[in-house]
Amino acid sequence: MQTIRHFIDGAFVEPASGAFLDVYEPATGTVYAQLPDGDGDDVERAVSAARRAFPGWAATPAAERSRVMLKIADLVEANLEALARAESIDNGKPLALARAVDIPRAVANLRFFATAILHTQSEAHLTDGAALNYTRREPRGVAGCISPWNLPLYLFTWKIAPALATGNTVVAKPSELTPMTAHRLAELCAEAGLPPGVLNVVHGLGPKVGAALVAHPDVPAISFTGGTATGAAIAARAGPQFKKLSLELGGKNPNLVFADADFDTALRTSVRAAFANQGQICLCGSRILVEQPLYDRFVEAFASATRELVVGDPFDEATHQGALVSSQHLEKVRGYVDLARAEGGTVLCGGERPGDLPERCAGGWFLEPTVITGLDAGCRVNREEIFGPVVTIMPFQREPDAVTWANATPYGLAATIWTRDLDRAHRVANQVQAGIVWINCWLLRDLRTPFGGMKNSGVGREGGDEALRFFTEPKNVCVKMRSL
Ligand code: NDP
Repeated sequence: MQTIRHFIDGAFVEPASGAFLDVYEPATGTVYAQLPDGDGDDVERAVSAARRAFPGWAATPAAERSRVMLKIADLVEANLEALARAESIDNGKPLALARAVDIPRAVANLRFFATAILHTQSEAHLTDGAALNYTRREPRGVAGCISPWNLPLYLFTWKIAPALATGNTVVAKPSELTPMTAHRLAELCAEAGLPPGVLNVVHGLGPKVGAALVAHPDVPAISFTGGTATGAAIAARAGPQFKKLSLELGGKNPNLVFADADFDTALRTSVRAAFANQGQICLCGSRILVEQPLYDRFVEAFASATRELVVGDPFDEATHQGALVSSQHLEKVRGYVDLARAEGGTVLCGGERPGDLPERCAGGWFLEPTVITGLDAGCRVNREEIFGPVVTIMPFQREPDAVTWANATPYGLAATIWTRDLDRAHRVANQVQAGIVWINCWLLRDLRTPFGGMKNSGVGREGGDEALRFFTEPKNVCVKMRSL
């Protein structure tokens, strides 16, 4: 049994309460590690350490901060296989996916922000030759970074990398469901020579550790990725203190397939977009809208491709779909399959526990990938985030209907459009309410671009310059040169 500890002030320490929680392996449903049941006392200790470390780290030349962060990235890359295994055990996702996507993208996050900080530009403005205005951007202080369980190391590094690169110190709280990769990263940070207190990791439950971090008066910036309801609670708590908030929240993303699309590519990618990571990616295309007369052909081919997905042991290289992250989450997702039936939908395939799981996975939290038809855009299943391997497909006749239905949810994170008509691609992209629109592709990301959602999908944008700006406070200095 492995025991995780908080990482505070450069050391691995016990929780103040002495209490620990169980960490489960979703593929087996068994406890495989313990993590600290952290609380406000641990957060206090971590924030104090981060405050002490802040002046030194903020004054460290950018080139040196960059060097240490690149060293961390190299160590993550060197430990790719071990980290991928840890992420797969924690989360239930296929090892092959963690190896090919999650950990390499975590490395990319670290390298991107470690080098971006070497190339930032600042502006100066001459005001009619009478004054010179220039803008300083200073790190904010102690940043609070709270990350979810679905892409544990990727989203953890997505937050801490820009915060550290810009000279902030960090208190981070990973999801208590998937703490292992953040714990391993802390070990690698120590090995890379990151000074004590610059990164602190406090483990435990959201309502205890997360809430204490959000409420702490010495944490002026909170970067959060997670569910919309949690985001609302954080905004309510942080608002009266005027904290800087970045909230990356849920999604219910439309995938629009027009009749002129490249059928095979649209089909193959739509299956991946629906079910990657067991549908537990905020960007998954969970509502597919297909133009008539393509609908019947698409549905048949989609259901057939879905039936071929192998659900099984995440460690088996042949597995496409692993386990869902927890028994509670599995029950929530199954509840939506029941709701779909109650709302008049037809479950074309999936919706059950797979029958042929290996012995090791007998107690795991699995669900077959599930395809539902026959629901309209206004029903709950088509409006609420399910965050599991459940996709709905509905037909449309006219482009304006597709746009209306695409926008008929409280969310606005991502959308995908499949068409060969360039005019339509740009026209629809302009009308769809989403922070990112993919045309004839899905999940292609350039780290320089702003990332985030409209409507209930969040507040602010992360990625590239947006992240560097979020973690720095602009101060304009105006120098008089002569009288106007
Ligand atoms: P949650 O909102 O449940 O949790 C996210 C993090 O917040 C966890 O570390 C959680 O801790 C913590 N937390 C929970 N309650 C509080 C609180 N009151 N105060 C402070 N922190 C708290 O989300 P999930 O972990 O379930 O992640 C899935 C959600 O994340 C989905 O809705 C998904 O769409 C969204 N997401 C959004 C992305 C985006 O970029 N827009 C990307 C990826 C996911 P604990 O786990 O201990 O409860």
